[in-house]
Amino acid sequence: MVKLYTEELGRTEAAAFGARKTKSRFGSRLEPFTTGIFLLYHKDEHSPFSIQDVEVTGQNGAIREDLNRFLIGNAVVEPVVRFVERAHRDRELYEILSSTLGLLNIIGITKGLYLLSMYDLNFLSIMGYKPDWDNCVKCSNPMQNGETFSDAAAGFPLCFRCHTSSSIAVSPGAMRFVKWALQTPLHYAEKVRMEGETLNQIRQIIEHLFLCTFQRVPDSWHQMKNILNYSRYASEG
Ligand SMILES: [Zn+2]
Repeated sequence: MVKLYTEELGRTEAAAFGARKTKSRFGSRLEPFTTGIFLLYHKDEHSPFSIQDVEVTGQNGAIREDLNRFLIGNAVVEPVVRFVERAHRDRELYEILSSTLGLLNIIGITKGLYLLSMYDLNFLSIMGYKPDWDNCVKCSNPMQNGETFSDAAAGFPLCFRCHTSSSIAVSPGAMRFVKWALQTPLHYAEKVRMEGETLNQIRQIIEHLFLCTFQRVPDSWHQMKNILNYSRYASEG
């Protein structure tokens, strides 16, 4: 079975008969992270799909050849598999998923983490969770300049009065990125410069938002965090 996110059917899956054979008629066209045009067939609407043909539009092979890229690729795909309802159709989600995979295939690894963060924030926004930047998520009072916090229990943004010992302080740079990411095309990830600590904070805010929204984070993040030490992926300036 191949898991697919499609423009017309949303999240679905389809059987690829014989795909694991060495001389499969699909060749390498069903590798993870591939984008393409799929011809699916089913007997009636209650039967599962089978894949009849695939025309690859993006091989995205570089994602599978480099461990760091592969980890980020998994982090891109897993929220869709895990948190998006079956048959939920969303044009915007389809667009960001396919363009993120295409960009991840060519972008540098540091910028790949910025790209993933932009993708995660857009994913949350498309799923209906877009933070209200101006007011505290807990007490609804207007946020004061320069005093923003975030934590897994309440979410983001939290005001000074509502923050607890388990909250993290959010720097103006991290705050700026989070707002910017939701109104900027994904390929701008290439132009981002930030310090490692800022990236660390951004990843933590995203983790808090996922925990508040879905009560969990993608499993693939654990492995990614163990291997990619975010503070090493800084570009000064
Ligand atoms: Zn508050």
